[in-house]
Amino acid sequence: MRFDILTLFPEMFAGPLSTSILGKARESGLVTVDVWNIRDYALDKHRIVDDTPYGGGAGMVLKVDVLARAVESVRGTSNAPVVYLSPQGRMFSQSVAAELAALPHLILLSGHYEEIDERVRQHWVDWELSIGDYVLTGGELPAMVVVDAVTRLLPGVLGHEDSSKEDSFQAGLLDYPHYTRPAEFRGMKVPEVLLSGHHGKIARYRLKEALRRTLLRRPDLLQRKDLSTEERQLLQELTDEASAEGRVNTDESD
Ligand code: SAM
Repeated sequence: MRFDILTLFPEMFAGPLSTSILGKARESGLVTVDVWNIRDYALDKHRIVDDTPYGGGAGMVLKVDVLARAVESVRGTSNAPVVYLSPQGRMFSQSVAAELAALPHLILLSGHYEEIDERVRQHWVDWELSIGDYVLTGGELPAMVVVDAVTRLLPGVLGHEDSSKEDSFQAGLLDYPHYTRPAEFRGMKVPEVLLSGHHGKIARYRLKEALRRTLLRRPDLLQRKDLSTEERQLLQELTDEASAEGRVNTDESD
């Protein structure tokens, strides 16, 4: 997959794009990321990229002529969608990441300062994506978030093909709890079942814990999920356990 990122601050991308899993994915050619400086498309002597807003008001607006040249030059003859990172866009999520991971090429446009000229939105932008209901100083961090979340879903990027399958949101649940050696630390023990080597029991335990966590932290996810028979049974067990515990607590407080 290929990403082209348009930004006023290319230097911000150096660390995240060359470190850890993203760095390895780029080295092995599973993903190509090119970062383009919007300022290179400003043709005047001072390479001006922004100007004051018509109608007055605070902040600077990125210029339509500069952005149009930048997008057209980077897009070339490809029909890759241009995605503007914006707090006004569609909310980015694991399922959006999966949709994007199926595409061969994306062009990500990072805004900065007050806004981009609205005509860029209307004529050069195909989609808008937001990474959350808050406002950042620029679209650089959101672009990195998108590249990271999408790249780890590409085949071959994670060491183990199953690594992302049980991640939070991937199957509509939060991830189950994880443990590693030592089996006991300061009296805190790893759940016995994980040491049993019994794959069926381990899978059932993990599914139940994923359901427990989702029920406690994100019950909204369960409402949207098409539950399997086993998941329904495990949820029933959790509900029964909770009401039994409630009874014990009530008994104790009597
Ligand atoms: N005036 C804009 C508004 O209220 O919608 C916010 C502009 S923000 C200060 C500057 C740039 O940061 C935006 O052009 C966008 O590229 C990026 N940005 C800020 N928050 C974002 C978010 N939650 N998701 C994606 N991009 C964001």
